Amino acid sequence: MSNHTPERMVTCPGCGGPSVYAPRNRYRPFCSERCKNHDLGAWASEEHRMPDPTPPDDFDLGTPPLQ
Ligand SMILES: [Zn+2]
Repeated sequence: MSNHTPERMVTCPGCGGPSVYAPRNRYRPFCSERCKNHDLGAWASEEHRMPDPTPPDDFDLGTPPLQ
């Protein structure tokens, strides 16, 4: 039976698994470096993603194709 200081466990935002929220876990609240990097990458791509400027289908429908 171990009686160490209880460490706070949180849910890893990367994989949803348990993560040790303690100073010894430098990747907290992530469980690992992989999860942390993956999340940062996702955030970066999300931030750099431009809004889709796709015009509506009827954008260039000034004249009807009927003749
Ligand atoms: Zn994880």
